[in-house]
Amino acid sequence: MARLKGLMLSLPFGFVLFLCSTFSIVPGVIGWSKEGHEMTCLIAQALLKPEASEAVHHLLPPHVNGNLSALCVWPDQIRHWYKYRWTSPLHFIDTPDEKCGFQYSRDCLEDMCVAGAIKNFTSQLSHYKEGTSDRRYNMTEALLFLSHFMGDIHQPMHVGFTSDKGGNTIDLRWYRHKSNLHHVWDREIILTALADYYDKDVTLLLQDIEKNYTNGIWSDDVASWEHCKDISSCVNK
Ligand SMILES: [Zn+2]
Repeated sequence: MARLKGLMLSLPFGFVLFLCSTFSIVPGVIGWSKEGHEMTCLIAQALLKPEASEAVHHLLPPHVNGNLSALCVWPDQIRHWYKYRWTSPLHFIDTPDEKCGFQYSRDCLEDMCVAGAIKNFTSQLSHYKEGTSDRRYNMTEALLFLSHFMGDIHQPMHVGFTSDKGGNTIDLRWYRHKSNLHHVWDREIILTALADYYDKDVTLLLQDIEKNYTNGIWSDDVASWEHCKDISSCVNK
């Protein structure tokens, strides 16, 4: 999915959401926790180029004061509403059990998976400059879905085998309480790291993550994330 990070970087207005981490939403389950999605979007928005930043500000509703992260969890909140029930399968990818590779034609029928969602919402947003007169698309919703799904697709439990429901059927103990593998990735790791290493200060954790791509282990990879000439092929790599 590294190419997807590049895809984001190459969007018309440079939606740099490359640190998004995701978890596919299995029926009855949410994706990254609120904290995970908020951090993903805080990092992404700080990396936007001026043109992209202006577009995002224009698309966000006034009450969030230009803060994309305030709405990054929105697709999880509305996925059970009748109007948006069709979006539920867009939070994850299920591959056949024991098949460790992703095949778009097999695992994303009719674009109904998180990779397909990223492809289609990216495509919609690519017409932003031409104006929003095309009533088929709600560009604000497209922005929120794309920002959320770039998080979801990088949560390891959102791309996995079908039968274990994204790790939800794998019960375990997380320190002193019961949990499951999906929830550990969604939230437990984040909260435990915040408490143990960052004095529960999200800003400090974000600064540490930033170091990884500015001058750390991911800094050599950033350039490659920016290359995606064709959305359809990028989401299949
Ligand atoms: Zn989600």
